[in-house]
Amino acid sequence: MSRSAAADAVVVGGGVVGAALAHRLAWAGLERVVLCEQARVAAHGATSRSGGLIRLHHTVHSDTELTARSLPVFEQWADVVGGDCGYRRTGFLQLVGPRYAEALAANTAAAAAAAGPRRTEVIDPAEARRLYPGLALDGVAAAAFEPDGGYADPVRAATAWADAARRQGVEIHEGVRVHEVLTSGDRVAGVETTTGRISAPLVVLASGAWGDAPAARLGVRVPVTARRIGLAQAHLPGAGRRGADVSVPTCIDDTTGSYFRPEGADRLFFGVPSHPDVAIGHDVAPLTPDELSSALAAIARRVPAVASAPLTGTRAGLDGYTPDKRPVIGPAGPDGLYLALGFSGGGFKMAPAVAELAAAEILDGQAVTGKAEQPLLAPYRLERFAEGRGIVPEAPYAQM
Ligand SMILES: Cc1cc2nc3c(=O)[nH]c(=O)nc-3n(C[C@H](O)[C@H](O)[C@H](O)COP(=O)(O)OP(=O)(O)OC[C@H]3O[C@@H](n4cnc5c(N)ncnc54)[C@H](O)[C@@H]3O)c2cc1C
Repeated sequence: MSRSAAADAVVVGGGVVGAALAHRLAWAGLERVVLCEQARVAAHGATSRSGGLIRLHHTVHSDTELTARSLPVFEQWADVVGGDCGYRRTGFLQLVGPRYAEALAANTAAAAAAAGPRRTEVIDPAEARRLYPGLALDGVAAAAFEPDGGYADPVRAATAWADAARRQGVEIHEGVRVHEVLTSGDRVAGVETTTGRISAPLVVLASGAWGDAPAARLGVRVPVTARRIGLAQAHLPGAGRRGADVSVPTCIDDTTGSYFRPEGADRLFFGVPSHPDVAIGHDVAPLTPDELSSALAAIARRVPAVASAPLTGTRAGLDGYTPDKRPVIGPAGPDGLYLALGFSGGGFKMAPAVAELAAAEILDGQAVTGKAEQPLLAPYRLERFAEGRGIVPEAPYAQM
């Protein structure tokens, strides 16, 4: 292929992370940004299947910081990005058993410190049930409540980011796969794609579960494996209607290892536990009856009405998982290469902050010199794996 073009930066991957990053790079002043997506924006990777839960509460406090910085973007989407990301404020509850009540208090305090005290508080299970009568809370010792938690639509969000990026002059090349990151001497020189070469001094890999493939020849090894995650949907009239007998929040229940949220007024989305690693490039197998029935049994303990609710849909998708289930964000390998991948089942809610901070690092030249840093991104560097210091939760639960 002899065709060639030039850019200031190439972003590889048109999921929510790549779309947000391309927008942010152009917004912050890069003139010619090209985003290459091997399929269609928001249509191929984890973003296309994501449940879109939005919460502050995490057991790793650096994740909390990123989600705290991201929440206002979802809230003020029309002004900050434009369009609509489908954000819905249902309230969020994190539920834990007696062993983890202290950890819950510590994680709630971390979220309040990062986002402000009105954003979250510990409440007792009776109060949680008063707020959401559709819940049954046997075995739950404590709950963290976030009034502004909820969900958004990851496909609409990524599409809105891509539209905003286009308005900033970003070129989006769909159906274009990046085969290889090119170098000249010890720095990045561009990419080789299925439609030709693009020369650029900066390349950002936002390639999700596809990982480091375009940089493999450069010796950049990112420990990312593709893992299958599932979601199902039941028809449950009133699930998302405040005050209804069956109303529920967006919720993660550590006691049963389950999560769920309303979808609109009359449906319930719930997680179906993930299953073994899968080979990239193959179709993701649909959820099986066994997977669905064990997920339903767990959800029915917290939302009894779901036991008799008809199922109205399922979806299974891939996300890239790292050994500590936290993303890799930062410069790596030759000068000019930047990684933002491996979001391990939790990338949507933190994408706004990741894009903002990563773009700031890239534009400050640190992706070129390798001298980071935005302090909030420091925990997520690739080197942590080689140096044996993966991210460890400050106040862990049974499942998180
Ligand atoms: C079922 C499910 C439920 C989830 N629920 C939640 C949730 O409730 N809350 C939350 O925060 N997160 C959730 N997640 C996780 C979240 O959706 C992901 O972490 C996030 O979408 C990752 O975005 P991404 O842009 O990194 O990756 P992706 O969306 O996978 O995008 C990567 C893109 O890169 C493209 N690509 C890869 N290699 C190349 C190449 N060489 N050339 C060109 N293009 C390339 C791919 O085609 C793909 O479109 C869920 C994920 C799944 C699957």
